[in-house]
Amino acid sequence: MAGKTPGKIDNEVQKAVEELEVDLVGVVRIEDIKDNDIAKAAQRLLPSVKSIVAMGMEIYPEFLDLSTPEMMMGTPNFNNMLTRHKDYLRGRLTRASYDVAKASRKAGLKTLPLPGDGPAIDGRFLEAVISYKNVAEAAGLGNIGMNSLLITEKYGPRVLLNLCLTEAALKSTAREKTKNCRFCNVCVAKCPAKALARPKDGEVYALNKYACRTYVEASGGCSECMRVCPVASPRYQ
Ligand code: SF4
Ligand code: SF4
Repeated sequence: MAGKTPGKIDNEVQKAVEELEVDLVGVVRIEDIKDNDIAKAAQRLLPSVKSIVAMGMEIYPEFLDLSTPEMMMGTPNFNNMLTRHKDYLRGRLTRASYDVAKASRKAGLKTLPLPGDGPAIDGRFLEAVISYKNVAEAAGLGNIGMNSLLITEKYGPRVLLNLCLTEAALKSTAREKTKNCRFCNVCVAKCPAKALARPKDGEVYALNKYACRTYVEASGGCSECMRVCPVASPRYQ
C-alpha cells in the first residue's frame, strides 16, 4: 500500500490489513482528516478511532450483464443471480472487517467492524451513518462519479465496499484524488427512473435517492448506472 508514512504503526493490525483476501484495501487516518464529515461520523461510532480500513470486492460483469431493470412476466429473473452474487461478496467483506477487528482486539485495541450489508441508515434522509464510498474515496480507492458510485481504476463502479474502524494506527493510502469518471453522461441518460441528472457547478452528482429507491423496489432491482458505465468495463476493452 502506498501513502504517507506515519510515526507509529500498530504492526500486527497492519499485517492483518495487508493479508486481507479482498480485491481492494485502503486506509484513512483520522489525524489526516480532522474535523471533516468522515472523521466526525467515525468518531460518533467509535470515539477513539485512529484509522478506518476500507475494503472492496469486485462485482463480476458476467452477473451484471444478465441483469435488467425491467422484469417481464414469464421470463427468468436474472436479477436474482446478481443479488445472490452480491450476497456472497457482502459475506466476504463482513468476514474481512472481522479479520481486522480480531487483530485489533488481540492487540488490546477497540474496534468496530461494520457489516458488508451496509451501515445503519437514517430513513428520513436515506443517509448512512457513515458513507462507505466517501471513506473509500478518501483512502484513495477511486473517486465518486456522476452515477453517485465510487469509480475505481481497476473495476470501475463494479465494487461493493465495507469498513472497519480501529484504534490501531495504520499506514494511510490516501493520495491525490483520481479522476476515473469520464463525465460521459451515459449513466444519466440510461437511468430508467430519471433519478440521475447532470450535476450543477460544485456538485459531484445529482441523484434523487427517493426516485431511485422507489424504482429499485418496484422493478425488483436496478443496476443500470453501474452496468452501463464504460470505466473498466470488459465490453469496452
Ligand atoms: S440504480 Fe437504477 S434507478 Fe437508481 S440511479 Fe441507478 S440507474 Fe437510476
Ligand atoms: S457512465 Fe460516464 S459519467 Fe457515469 S459514472 Fe461512468 S464514466 Fe462517469
